Amino acid sequence: METTAAAVARPSRDAWTSHLRSHGRRVTKQRLAVLDAVDAVPHATAEDTVRQVRSVLPNISVQSVYVVLADLTSIGMVSKLEPPGSPARYEIRTGDNHHHVYCISCGSIQDVPCAVGHAPCLTPSEDHGFQLLSAEVVFRGICPRCQNGGAAAVP
Ligand SMILES: [Zn+2]
Ligand SMILES: [Zn+2]
Repeated sequence: METTAAAVARPSRDAWTSHLRSHGRRVTKQRLAVLDAVDAVPHATAEDTVRQVRSVLPNISVQSVYVVLADLTSIGMVSKLEPPGSPARYEIRTGDNHHHVYCISCGSIQDVPCAVGHAPCLTPSEDHGFQLLSAEVVFRGICPRCQNGGAAAVP
């Protein structure tokens, strides 16, 4: 069923398969195509993901891709980021507690590794008695391309 060499070489497939099964999900080509798409283009919007999935499965409906994305998010395989003033973005959940820098001009997003190396890497001044598991930071700024060329710069 593999269509490209890249898909064959992807080692994450085995992990995805067992993760899906451990959550009682069948391993379908739709689910794998969505995971592949999110893996290939991290921080893509749902719309971008639909386009990417459709390059592999041209007949899949937009609604199906949204449903699969939401389901994969609910079982912790995909993380949903919601940058302020921008559509939600998706990435394969890594569990490494990494953070993000977000360009307020062009909306590009990059990963920022956790400073301390394990979650939660930040200590709040008041934890309200919670046992803290993770911390997420969105740094907002202007990316180098926008600093140089302005918002009209093409990707
Ligand atoms: Zn930018
Ligand atoms: Zn990320």
